[in-house]
Amino acid sequence: MKSISVLGSTGSIGTQTLQIAEEFPEQFRVVSLTAGRNLELLVTQIQRHRPEVVALADSDLLPELEQRLTDVGINGAKAPQLVGGPDGLNTAAAWDSGDLVVTGIVGCAGLLPTLAAIRAGKDLALANKETLIAAGPVVLPELKKSGSRLLPADSEHSAIFQCLQGTPWAENARLSTGVPTPGLRRIQLTASGGAFRDWAAADLEKATVSDATRHPNWSMGRKITVDSASLMNKGLEVIEAHYLFGLDYDHIEIVIHPQSIIHSMIELADSSVLAQLGWPDMKLPILYCLSWPSRLETPWRRLDLTEVGQLSFRAPDPAKYPCMKLAYDAGRAGGTMPAVMNAANEEAVAQFLEERIHFLDIPVVIEAACEQHKADLMAHPQLDDVLTVDQWARQSVREQVKRGARRIPAASLAA
Ligand code: NDP
Repeated sequence: MKSISVLGSTGSIGTQTLQIAEEFPEQFRVVSLTAGRNLELLVTQIQRHRPEVVALADSDLLPELEQRLTDVGINGAKAPQLVGGPDGLNTAAAWDSGDLVVTGIVGCAGLLPTLAAIRAGKDLALANKETLIAAGPVVLPELKKSGSRLLPADSEHSAIFQCLQGTPWAENARLSTGVPTPGLRRIQLTASGGAFRDWAAADLEKATVSDATRHPNWSMGRKITVDSASLMNKGLEVIEAHYLFGLDYDHIEIVIHPQSIIHSMIELADSSVLAQLGWPDMKLPILYCLSWPSRLETPWRRLDLTEVGQLSFRAPDPAKYPCMKLAYDAGRAGGTMPAVMNAANEEAVAQFLEERIHFLDIPVVIEAACEQHKADLMAHPQLDDVLTVDQWARQSVREQVKRGARRIPAASLAA
């Protein structure tokens, strides 16, 4: 029986993790949950899983949560410990009885709870990629110090991890130190191409929030769905792969694979290519994190390639997807630059979702923030440096939006 803590339990990753826990009650017990604002779903999850501790990002909502729990008969000795705010999230992440922490908080908000879990020596199922991208130079040494293992929940990195299990360097596939895996020559990250994969670049002028949040293959939270449409998600994954598997950026490639059946590939020293395949369903990579190094038998739909019929691949168009280059450039610059790019992207996507900027403005405001940061780049940042540049980059984007420094005039947004 493994005890799991689920950070961001009310989100797409969180709810799928809890579905797995329900499906395998003999294997997994949920001891800790954290959420943002969705109290209704959280109460249902508490009723079903009876965790020992529950944290809310906003401590002002704690009285309302307590009342809702009382209303459904969960109070007194039956109630979990309720905690709130940044300290509360850290407490839930580092909860004593938790063996493995699933990081399903979206964005850099996941950084401090993730660090709290690492410092408490917990193993991590890493979904919250923004944490590693923003703070790789801080997170990796902490992992080394604590001995926590970082298991990738992102489907592409899970695919790479699964392929590495079959190599002579499986021991090195323990992950997470950023040490190059010997004999690993190249990583190919597959990308569905997101919501706009079949749109001509010129048509992106007409892209709306509702277009960008309709993913053709995967059902995910809104932020990552927009990141998929801009291919920033794949750019973030390139940096994530760099930190996880230690390859330099020249050997991490992106290939568009519209069917999302091959979840990624590795090329080895003898030129052999290994791939992991499956239907596009996040439950499998999450389950592998929970069960690793074992595999559990599931009744889930089995892959039938005759049903798929065709697997196709093409190179991504850099002109259509400028975010890809921004991510490679930030990764290569290293230090604080990925943190700036990540925070600028988070803010730009939030502004886009609120319809204050156009989809095509996203790379423009990110690029401006990164350009401005070049003079102040810190090569070996500490945690405080990462948090400072994160705030600076968000502010930079907000100011750009306020100044109207945008590619598309506001008037056309309503059209
Ligand atoms: P969702 O938006 O669906 O869920 C986000 C979760 O984080 C919710 O529980 C939300 O709470 C909580 N949350 C939001 N803001 C804060 C905050 N400031 N402090 C604490 N908690 C907060 O996101 P996803 O599940 O899609 O993504 C989560 C992470 O996993 C992201 O980093 C994403 O890149 C990564 N990922 C996701 C995949 C997917 O299939 N969804 C695939 C691969 C990676 P509430 O809703 O209660 O407000």
